[in-house]
Amino acid sequence: MSATVTLTGIVCNKCHFKVAEVLDGCPSCGSESIEKVELKPTGHIDSFTVVHVGFGHMAERAPYVLAIVQTEENVKLTTVIEGVSDFASVKIGDQVRLKTIDEKIGPIFQY
Ligand SMILES: [Zn+2]
Repeated sequence: MSATVTLTGIVCNKCHFKVAEVLDGCPSCGSESIEKVELKPTGHIDSFTVVHVGFGHMAERAPYVLAIVQTEENVKLTTVIEGVSDFASVKIGDQVRLKTIDEKIGPIFQY
């Protein structure tokens, strides 16, 4: 994939909370004084599960790894981890990086 993929989020100007989504306000303090930021595209797996039955547009993707990734900036996001051939090898703490942004799914990470 392209090396120009960037993870976009917002940062709150009041409490400096960062989120990996583009929202109208800060989900931490409620401030509307926010701005878009480019987030670091690397982090680790904080939690994960293997989804064997996907729904809707995710159905044909199953089985897949659905994970909560914590980026280097301590931003947590729910994401799919691609390129996993052995699900038993996936561990909490594994280093992952942004692969692409899917139109329907959002950020997709990989090892
Ligand atoms: Zn805030």
